[in-house]
Amino acid sequence: MDRETTNKYLKTHGILPESRFGQNFLCDEDIIASIVEIAGIRKGDRVLEIGPGIGALTRPLSAMEIDLTSVEIDKRLSEILREDPDINAQVIDSDFLKLTDYNPEAFDIVISNLPYYVMTDIMKKLFAECINARKMVFMVEEEATARIDASPKTKQYGPLAVLTAVYGVYSEELTVQGSCFIPAPRTTSAVISLTRSEDAKALNKEFVRFVDTCFSMRRKKLTNSLKAYPKEIVEGAYSKLGLDPNVRAEELAPEVFISLYDAIIN
Ligand code: SAM
Repeated sequence: MDRETTNKYLKTHGILPESRFGQNFLCDEDIIASIVEIAGIRKGDRVLEIGPGIGALTRPLSAMEIDLTSVEIDKRLSEILREDPDINAQVIDSDFLKLTDYNPEAFDIVISNLPYYVMTDIMKKLFAECINARKMVFMVEEEATARIDASPKTKQYGPLAVLTAVYGVYSEELTVQGSCFIPAPRTTSAVISLTRSEDAKALNKEFVRFVDTCFSMRRKKLTNSLKAYPKEIVEGAYSKLGLDPNVRAEELAPEVFISLYDAIIN
């Protein structure tokens, strides 16, 4: 939907965008078409969309021969989407962060104009649960890309960068100006894609928790954060991997977290 149609749709349905849900509705048809194309969706794919809003992406996705599930926190919007003849999706009323009654491993593709206030938590949940998805495409705040695609030994490097790198190959696809949304967010946005790699096999809920734990005292030695694990197991893992006992989490490459997890937990 373009700007005019989006405005009309909001008016007809009496919807005032809720800032507490991060509602900035995309209304640029070229950007919408690009996002759908970037996702590389194939016939028969099972696609998960987080936060369909009033259907900017849900509408073109509904026209494809796919199995689409869209999870929306705002009941006003999910009710409208369910009644919209152009929407062909299973719309789930839920805060995605609380959703347990679904089959995350079944999804081939994840797509979302992410609500920025919960971006990190949603991405972590996806990395922990949607472990078979071959691609994830997100709209994020442009300034957040520095944290998502951060390198070791930088201030921005943390759990989100480690998990993103373990999941796959990062690509920044598009920059999107605030004027492409109703209402316009204060910041510029970016569309990013993540393509699953071999290392993604390491992802699960426990691994995500482990990476968070490793960074829980990021200014201190990593051993401080690993105190919950038996000392001799941690020491054995360090010697097996040849790690300096003084190393800090932010100095370790993403793949080292996989080896460390295997050595301590498995
Ligand atoms: N996809 C639409 C678009 O591109 O116009 C809407 C994007 S808007 C940035 C974010 C959407 O996520 C809103 O519809 C909002 O209600 C929904 N949302 C916010 N928090 C959510 C959560 N925790 N779980 C599911 N949906 C959420």
